[in-house]
Amino acid sequence: MMEISNINHVLGKPGRPIIISGPCSAESEEQVLETCTQIAKTGKVDILRAGIWKPRTRPGSFEGIGSVGLGWLQKAKAATGLKTAVEVANGNHVYEALKYNIDVLWIGARSTVNPFSVQEIADALKGSDATVLIKNPINPDLELWLGAIERIQKAGITKIGAIHRGFSKFGESRFRNLPLWQLPIELKRRLPEITMINDPSHICGIRETIPEIAQEALDLKFDGLMIEAHRDPSVALSDAKQQFTPQQLEEVLDNLIVRKGTPEDENAMYMLNMLRKEIDQFDEDIINLLAKRMKISENIGEFKKENNITILQPSRWDEIISNRTEKGTKLGLSEGFMNSFLKAVHQESINHQNKVMNASKSVDAVK
Ligand code: PEP
Ligand code: MN
Repeated sequence: MMEISNINHVLGKPGRPIIISGPCSAESEEQVLETCTQIAKTGKVDILRAGIWKPRTRPGSFEGIGSVGLGWLQKAKAATGLKTAVEVANGNHVYEALKYNIDVLWIGARSTVNPFSVQEIADALKGSDATVLIKNPINPDLELWLGAIERIQKAGITKIGAIHRGFSKFGESRFRNLPLWQLPIELKRRLPEITMINDPSHICGIRETIPEIAQEALDLKFDGLMIEAHRDPSVALSDAKQQFTPQQLEEVLDNLIVRKGTPEDENAMYMLNMLRKEIDQFDEDIINLLAKRMKISENIGEFKKENNITILQPSRWDEIISNRTEKGTKLGLSEGFMNSFLKAVHQESINHQNKVMNASKSVDAVK
């Protein structure tokens, strides 16, 4: 099992979230310098970011300024005293970024999905002391994310962190990329020490919802945020709708509430523990009830087997979905939750019935 240590102290200052900000793309020397100086003036940002090589979904859009932008970031670093970060997507990017003393390299979501790209980046990093942040892959595949982290670690890199930027979707959604918080939470469970940064800009795709997602990330104990800002987002060559002005960024950061990990006084801790005990009891009751429900499902399975009828009864299933969802939503549970909960329960019932009804089949097949 790989172990990754926390690099919060490398990226930021103790006691407050790590903040990485800067334009989506470096566009011109003035744009980088003006944006970065204004961002630095807020006094709330640790690292300046800018995309130099841009992975665009369709050809023909702005694909990044290239290595010349690395010099602009170097100037921004000299002018502000802040660290710098760029995205690298191949071995040559790594070589160029290290040549220009970029402090933090990040691997983009479209590269994390591809083990060949990640391996090429890892090989180029060998022997360096780089700090590397690895964005989640565009698809919700935890193993791919872990695999990318492992490849970088195997190259001898010790300062590694993760960035949660959301996951691709099909169809309408209020998000550009779905947050699917369970994935970063599970990554953190597997690698408890890893520094975890949230990128609300690429999750939201529009400015308006960024504060809400940023706050949610802090409340989920993320270590920091990567937020895009541009001196004039209206003329940005990429991701115009999701970038803040440096002034807006400052306001957003000012309004974030940084809560403590655990209550300080004993009384508060006692109250919290009492409420948690209640939750524990409810969870136990729910589990027992679900197990009982599955036993009944098995009995129904026996019945269906004897009477030779199918497991799936669509009209019954329809009725369950609509009547339970109505009940749940009336009690304040969301429709989305009721849907996934009922689907999970239904699938588990089907599995139990299938076992009862077709138990002998697989044994026969093996014989
Ligand atoms: C970016 O940070 O500008 C970027 C391209 O991000 P992602 O890899 O998350 O799409
Ligand atoms: Mn962007």
